[in-house]
Amino acid sequence: MKTHKIAVIPGDGIGPEVINEGVKVLNKIASLDHTFQFEFTSFPWGCEYYARYGKMMDDDGIERLKEFEAIYLGAVGFPGVPDHISLWDLLLKIRKSFDQYVNIRPITLLKGAPCPLVNFNSEDINMLFIRENTEGEYAGAGDWLYRGKENEVVLQNSVFSRKGTERIIRYAFEVALKQGKTLTSISKGNALNYSMVFWDQLFEEVGKEYPSVKTYSYLVDAAAMLMIKDPKRFEVVVTSNLFGDILTDLGAAIAGGLGLAAGANINPERVYPSMFEPIHGSAPDIAGKQLSNPLAAIWSASQLLDHLGYEQYGKVILTAIEQLLIEKNVLTPDLGGSSSTSEVGDCIVELIASNM
Ligand code: ATP
Ligand code: MG
Repeated sequence: MKTHKIAVIPGDGIGPEVINEGVKVLNKIASLDHTFQFEFTSFPWGCEYYARYGKMMDDDGIERLKEFEAIYLGAVGFPGVPDHISLWDLLLKIRKSFDQYVNIRPITLLKGAPCPLVNFNSEDINMLFIRENTEGEYAGAGDWLYRGKENEVVLQNSVFSRKGTERIIRYAFEVALKQGKTLTSISKGNALNYSMVFWDQLFEEVGKEYPSVKTYSYLVDAAAMLMIKDPKRFEVVVTSNLFGDILTDLGAAIAGGLGLAAGANINPERVYPSMFEPIHGSAPDIAGKQLSNPLAAIWSASQLLDHLGYEQYGKVILTAIEQLLIEKNVLTPDLGGSSSTSEVGDCIVELIASNM
């Protein structure tokens, strides 16, 4: 029997409760398949760890994570620890150390999921966001140019390397080609007159290698509007780190809410482990009360299965989520139900068992 070694970082707030349900689902699938099993190793890193030891993860944390096939992460961040510390010292550290330069965020309105856009249904909202995940606006380059009360000036640079930009654009073209979809690039070349002009230029350059992929290019402001007015026009989308971050929260809002939004941080070369996480944060307001929706974390678990080569089971999970949403009997409060986090997880496990 094949054993897949997975590192689990439950993290803060609702992280542990949603990850618990995802692990339940993954174990169920493995037990029904019989040919493989998961070996989960849990790491207690996050803001509680920071409060105790003054750091978000162990000094040799990255080294220790290297031996795993994938990382399954809940959420990091909690009141009391500045967000830029929790983000940089754990999440961004892992993404950058493991060169997880592709962030895949499906914005798919499943049947039965709530959508605030009254004119649209599940056929109309089906986008795959491919977000650059290691540089751009989140390069971490900047400084205080002048200190002092009156004249303070702060600089935050973005970094777009040819290598970093080309590889994410090429990855997106490959996905669009494989899926027979259109590819939309979202940038801001009119105002960001170096970085985004460069981005647009590389999009055109790389595009020449993929003449059969139909392409579109939008400014980020126009794209934000069009995602609400005419979401159908977006299929595969490639964009920068910051724009992808913002637009996928908007995307989550039109595709069932943060409780349903999943994300994968991929190192396509598989030199390092990839990481799977719901895109929501630690939601301290509802933490520890079994009120959180585990479906985003469970959807991320389906991306993990896709990554390990079990696409058939990734689909089994999505089918179960859709069934649950259509039946509407077992849902958490964010989706209008009154079930607990673990009741939702249990129901998904049952649906999977009856479908497999
Ligand atoms: P962080 O600082 O870690 O990003 P946050 O306060 O920004 O945390 P998010 O998790 O990003 O919180 O989400 C904002 C709000 O959306 C939460 O406060 C919560 O009310 C709601 N929310 C987010 N995720 C979920 C979920 N899985 N289930 C139910 N509600 C959620
Ligand atoms: Mg947040």
